[in-house]
Amino acid sequence: MNAAANQPALSQATLDFLAREHKLFINGAWIQSSGPETIDIINPSTEEVITKIQAGTRADIDKAVVAAQSALKGEWAALSSRQRGKVLLRFADLIDENLQTLAELEVLDNGQPLMIAQYTVAGFGADFVRYYAGWCDKIEGATIPVSPAEAPAGGSLTYTKREPIGVVGAIIPWNAPIAMAILKIAPSLAAGCTIILKPAELAPLTSMKLADIAKEAGVPDGVFNVVNGTGPEVGAALSEHMNIQKVSFTGSTGVGQTIAKAAAGSNLKKVTLELGGKSPVVVFPDANMEKVIPSICRAAFFLQGQNCMAGTRLLVHKDVADAVIEGVVAALAFWKVGDGFQPDTLIGPLISATQRDRVMSFIEAGKAEGARLVTGGNAVGEKGYFVEPTVFADCKPDMTIVQEEIFGPVLSVLTFDTYDLDEIAQLANDNVYGLSGSVWTQDISRAHKLVSMIDSGQVSINCHAAVDPAIPFGGNKMSGWGREFGKEGLEPFLKTKATTVVF
Ligand code: NAP
Ligand code: MG
Repeated sequence: MNAAANQPALSQATLDFLAREHKLFINGAWIQSSGPETIDIINPSTEEVITKIQAGTRADIDKAVVAAQSALKGEWAALSSRQRGKVLLRFADLIDENLQTLAELEVLDNGQPLMIAQYTVAGFGADFVRYYAGWCDKIEGATIPVSPAEAPAGGSLTYTKREPIGVVGAIIPWNAPIAMAILKIAPSLAAGCTIILKPAELAPLTSMKLADIAKEAGVPDGVFNVVNGTGPEVGAALSEHMNIQKVSFTGSTGVGQTIAKAAAGSNLKKVTLELGGKSPVVVFPDANMEKVIPSICRAAFFLQGQNCMAGTRLLVHKDVADAVIEGVVAALAFWKVGDGFQPDTLIGPLISATQRDRVMSFIEAGKAEGARLVTGGNAVGEKGYFVEPTVFADCKPDMTIVQEEIFGPVLSVLTFDTYDLDEIAQLANDNVYGLSGSVWTQDISRAHKLVSMIDSGQVSINCHAAVDPAIPFGGNKMSGWGREFGKEGLEPFLKTKATTVVF
């Protein structure tokens, strides 16, 4: 494997973007950070520094909050809901026009295969924004048929209005940067909020490109701001800020808990948390093997397993365990590890040396605790943070690799020898997380019964992690608070005002 081989020429727009000085986007302009620090942006396939960005500080968050507060009352608030939707539609069209640049930046910054980046920009960029553009003029309140305040029957009217919650602080991870950014920006803007986005320091480039695109689309100054920096400073400044009304966070469970504490200890800002996962994939002997095997591979290894909804606990009935494991190993022969720009790459690098070392330490723990390594298990390549897709069989529920979110290309296989759904559900639920999951069987009654017993925000039947802008997604247990996507994903950006008028 040669990480740097066959890299296509980057588009001029990508080269121009990389060559710029990368400042902070506050109040509609790129401004100098108030601090001296810069962050090297590294291509995880080559370990080369591709550009540098300025790191913001608490003082920059203060500036962004002032801009976002003022923008809440200005031109943005004066737009009708339908005009706001049209701004979002222009934003979506411009995301489509910039697809190649956004995709190239995503591959350089995050390492994912180009085809996946292109698919993500179209599906989770443009289409996601269009979906939320459609909500702008459908955010409705209610009328409530009571007669409070001693009004005679028919002598009063009570109605509710849904208002933008205010200034939103959005904090995102590095694993699917553009999708994560859009998941915050689109519903915030549809609700009429203003937003300050803190990208992950390991992969901020597409978020920054989105700032240019939003400006070109006519998003008024101060409505969408991007402040780069480190989590402990800039992320904490957002979560502790007295003039931010909501934090929408995607990332690890530990940082989510820190943010919830910061919100509780400051102004009780509202918080949604999309956190980690360790999702079960449950396979019965009657499952369609032609479909289940490629789906197991996608569930576990999409985005190198750096994917919160990854199906990393394969629970398979003993009668088909050997056949399923053999099928997965055979299918993985086609999962080529390499630079995301090589057309046949399905597994890119992990995001960083730290992440690679963390994943390798889990692989060592799997071996040490007695799991059977069936395939993979190695870091590969002289440059770049590549790890082979790895499968462990004969896993037991209490093993580290079964309990912990690895966030890398490691699948742990457990078997069950029963059709007792209580027992199977207990195995599926034996984890602190509850984000996603899937059940594979032709017996539709069994499938629905088992789905109702699995404590996860999303459990699919005969597919894994069906994702669509309209389908709510989020976690139970330690996987988070609240939902993103769909109408439920808009709610956290709104607040209700109830008004009673007595005639
Ligand atoms: P992370 O370490 O929690 O970081 C996420 C973001 O939080 C980054 O922008 C980070 O800044 C920032 N941050 C760090 N410390 C902070 C603090 N004290 N206060 C406020 N913000 C802080 O997560 P990650 O390693 O980037 O991403 C992997 C995790 O994300 C996994 O657990 C994965 O499951 C989860 N994830 C969940 C979903 C979902 O939808 N449920 C989706 C994707 C990923 P820096 O960049 O400076 O570290
Ligand atoms: Mg990077």
